[in-house]
Amino acid sequence: MHSRKNPLPPVVLGLEAGCCPDPASGRHLIYGRVFKNASDKDGNHHSAGHLREVPWVAIAPVVTAIRVLERIVPDGGLLFDAAVHAFQNAPAAPAASIRPHSLRGRIEAFAAWASSLARRLGRDHEVVPDDRHGAIGLARFRRTLAWHIARRPGGLVAPAIQYGHMRTAMSAGYAARGRDGIHELLDIETARATADTLTTLHDDLTNGVGISGPAARRAIHAAAQAPTFAGSIRTHRQARDILRNPALTVYNNPRAFLMCVYNRDRALCHRLDVTDAPRLDRCQPSCTNIARTDSHADQLRQHAQALEKQAASEAVPDPLADRLTRRAGHLLALADRHEHDCIHLQEPTS
Ligand code: SF4
Repeated sequence: MHSRKNPLPPVVLGLEAGCCPDPASGRHLIYGRVFKNASDKDGNHHSAGHLREVPWVAIAPVVTAIRVLERIVPDGGLLFDAAVHAFQNAPAAPAASIRPHSLRGRIEAFAAWASSLARRLGRDHEVVPDDRHGAIGLARFRRTLAWHIARRPGGLVAPAIQYGHMRTAMSAGYAARGRDGIHELLDIETARATADTLTTLHDDLTNGVGISGPAARRAIHAAAQAPTFAGSIRTHRQARDILRNPALTVYNNPRAFLMCVYNRDRALCHRLDVTDAPRLDRCQPSCTNIARTDSHADQLRQHAQALEKQAASEAVPDPLADRLTRRAGHLLALADRHEHDCIHLQEPTS
């Protein structure tokens, strides 16, 4: 029923209308089915799977997407029901989920729709550009998703954020066995992001850039190893070797204006989770895994300036303006602390 090359995992393809009820209070939860090892008390395999014991927390854009799908498919039907989603005349098996060729068509149709909307609204810079490699296709779509999850934690791509949550919840971390499909791609993209972060840090330190924060010394040590693996991550095995090396686990976190020099025992983002990966989307400012470079300090100042400008606008109500001003002051204080505390390996070149 599910192709291995499908970019959506079986647990997502098996979601049904009604899987995300409106809660009386608190967050929306998604109730899905698992298919692997699903069997009854006599050990017979359950092809319909069984309900996952632990639901996922759904972020708002994902709840909206589910509501849209629920208006498309019949009550209680699969959200990705092939019979509803495939426009081709080929009859689909009953209760089968969407197949890769239909998804491929949907991805291309979405890109065309987004481009025409951007043109209609005069936002030509948001048109999806023509691609010399041809149609986006499923494999590249998966890699794009993996890239966003690895490099834009808490970023703009809602499915990537949601997938990031699911990834943490589903896996026991980078040491988990039996990783496949999107998880392997995620490992490779995460390892590449780590390698890029370390290579940039190595070059910056060599050029006299300053570094501060409780984890600055560990970051310097990790950066010293960057030249040995830069550009060499092609296979899952190579990615795993990097991700399992505790001396190399450095992640850029642009949204929090810092680098996470991950040490599981000191991490404040997931005290109770069983995971070997940081929750960059839940980064805590008092964590001792934090390091900052001059470029993070520059970004802090730029963001503070933008917030102050916003706060000065007459259109912004006073309570919000106060909040923005306080936030700007906090960011400026962090940048000032960096200036005060930062250390240099080399004399700055300028
Ligand atoms: S809280 Fe600490 S371990 Fe978690 S992401 Fe932030 S710096 Fe990393």
